[in-house]
Amino acid sequence: MKKKVVILGSTGSIGENALKVAAALPDRLQVIGLASRTSYPRLLEQAAQFKVKRLAVADPAAAEACRAAAPRSVSVSGGDDGVEALAALEEADIVLCALVGMAGLRSVIAALRQGTDVALATKEVLVAAGGLVMDTAAKHGARLLPVDSEHSAIFQCLEGRDPASVRRLVLTASGGPFAGRHDVDFDKVTAAEALKHPRWNMGRKVSVDSATLMNKGLEVIEAHWLFGVPFDRIDVVIHPESIVHSLVEFNDGSLLAQLSQPDMRFAIQYALTGPARLDTGLPALDLARLGALHFRAPDPIRFPGLGLARRAALTGGTAPAVMNAANEVAVARFLTGGLSFAGIWHTVEAVLSAHTPHPRPTLDQLMAADLWSRAEAERSITAAQPAVPGAPLC
Ligand code: MG
Repeated sequence: MKKKVVILGSTGSIGENALKVAAALPDRLQVIGLASRTSYPRLLEQAAQFKVKRLAVADPAAAEACRAAAPRSVSVSGGDDGVEALAALEEADIVLCALVGMAGLRSVIAALRQGTDVALATKEVLVAAGGLVMDTAAKHGARLLPVDSEHSAIFQCLEGRDPASVRRLVLTASGGPFAGRHDVDFDKVTAAEALKHPRWNMGRKVSVDSATLMNKGLEVIEAHWLFGVPFDRIDVVIHPESIVHSLVEFNDGSLLAQLSQPDMRFAIQYALTGPARLDTGLPALDLARLGALHFRAPDPIRFPGLGLARRAALTGGTAPAVMNAANEVAVARFLTGGLSFAGIWHTVEAVLSAHTPHPRPTLDQLMAADLWSRAEAERSITAAQPAVPGAPLC
């Protein structure tokens, strides 16, 4: 029987790769719903190719334009509510969430409440609201399946094992374009340099997060919630080749790892069709040709992102949501030239320090903390800007 799939964020990098996976497995996967934030021309092309009748566009004006351009047989719902309604579609077997940032939270909760499994690519959802999301999944008998390559690796290594036999999780990090380079001035790095990821072809937000190592911090928190392992037993190792996607250490000292080419389609396909091991059509690894794999410890002084995320994680409550929101704002400002690369860390640190965390937040309290953090991040960035030359001093 075909699995009915809804893809939220179908026009982004993960979404496009998920559609390639679906196109390669027409007997296994049927796409029944697609959502994007604004990119409706591409969404309509995808709908035509996969014969999808239900679309959602989060931006209301883009939704209106999409509706006007869509064939009569295709329904288009608009706004965040429209995306949420698509996520809660009763006939869906699995919802793949690849929306950028916190935008995915309400839709993930809506799908889980319906008892629908969620393949999660949007790590911010678990970072900001891990406790709430995992409780909702457990209450409604739905599963969260990792799409992030590191978590997919751990998920595969843990399958069928006794959780009590796990000593430690080890997340690998490519380190991004600047790891191991001591000549880089983080006050002068441009967006183009930060976006030039050496291994993975990803969206802009995650590429910058990868360069600051904030991404790995978010992934430590994500791993904690997905696998129920305490933070002090989740380690990070830099592995520039991105071939070993992560490892699990067991009580006997043995490590299990998952290896593949760095291509998102491995993890996406496993989330959608696992535990079956179907042909991906992708090239296997040639270890002899690779020759060597390298590992080293991350540098917490030059890259404070990991430490900031751990600090938020250990504080708990609303702190991770606040850390995440401040980072989203800072990355967006960096990408538009309004903040230096190092300013991303400074902003997250300033906002975390100004925050009084709520220990056990509800969804509304989390959303409020998220909004507070965004405003505080904007305020902190503006306050830190040097005075405009020629502007009157007062
Ligand atoms: Mg990752």
